[in-house]
Amino acid sequence: MPESRPTVAIVIPVFNEESVLPELFARLGALLKAPGECAWRVVFVNDGSRDRSADLIRAQAAGDPRFELVELSRNFGFQSALAAGLASAGDADAVVTMDADLQDPPEVIPELVSAWRSGAEVVRAVRRSRQETGVRRMGFDLFHAVFGSLTDIPIEGNSGTFGLLGRPALEAFARLPERHRFFPGLRAWIGFATADVAYDRQERAAGKPKQTFRRLVRYAVDGFFSFSYLPLRVLTYMGIAVSGLGFALGLYFIAKRLLGIETATTGFTTLVSLVTFLGGIQLIGIGVLGEYLGRVYDEVKQRPIYLIRPPRR
Ligand code: UDP
Ligand code: MG
Repeated sequence: MPESRPTVAIVIPVFNEESVLPELFARLGALLKAPGECAWRVVFVNDGSRDRSADLIRAQAAGDPRFELVELSRNFGFQSALAAGLASAGDADAVVTMDADLQDPPEVIPELVSAWRSGAEVVRAVRRSRQETGVRRMGFDLFHAVFGSLTDIPIEGNSGTFGLLGRPALEAFARLPERHRFFPGLRAWIGFATADVAYDRQERAAGKPKQTFRRLVRYAVDGFFSFSYLPLRVLTYMGIAVSGLGFALGLYFIAKRLLGIETATTGFTTLVSLVTFLGGIQLIGIGVLGEYLGRVYDEVKQRPIYLIRPPRR
């Protein structure tokens, strides 16, 4: 009998998550058991875990064919693992993207699916509350405030990876070739009819965050530079302002000299401050150019975003 129900694939990047996987399997299992109008697939992307994550997933897949394992050849990072998962689940009618650590509760998935069934092509899970505190929290808030006001494509501040992509959105994603990927930004960029589902973001079920603070900062910088030309524009404005000021100063001193008002030959302090200040601005300018140039270089190299290790026999 041909399968007439739509297939929904749940894509989950995994990096050293052996401590949460059993609970994740159990909660996904409960969800999948419920009779529904969808056929499910769960695609785990093992992003080069150094613990028993891959073995656990393999064992789960052996007992239930709806669970699949895609293995990357090393740790490529969350964004690349996510891209690998989207590509592997490419023939599903819809893909749910979520973290393995149960911060995105699987129980919300039916709500995402029903929003999709009622017409949305992209569904974002939007946090009603957030568990992070301290520096991490401040970082998240600051990033969203800056990103929202400065980039050309505003993203929903309270949504992350968790959500659902329908067929047309998936096909659009498959056409995005960039290496520096920032999923929420790309999801905003592709457009399509978007719906939001509110949920309470949970505490990580076990283990430590796998994305270090440094990585999150890099991720934020990436998001910023790949969606905004503002840093370049600021440099241009600064250049115009500084050269305008320089020109005015020049006129002033020439006029003084012509009128015979003698200028003192002191001014060492002024000179030193001017030279260092302008030197600093120029170096910042070169740095900003470098950020863009480095990204251009990475794109031009055309290296694959991830490499898949063939299944073990
Ligand atoms: N992850 C991954 N590769 C990495 C780091 C993390 O696939 O290099 C996965 C991780 O297993 C989890 C998800 O990405 O499923 C989110 O990671 P984490 O919870 O550490 O990040 P945060 O909650 O701070 O965004
Ligand atoms: Mg997490």
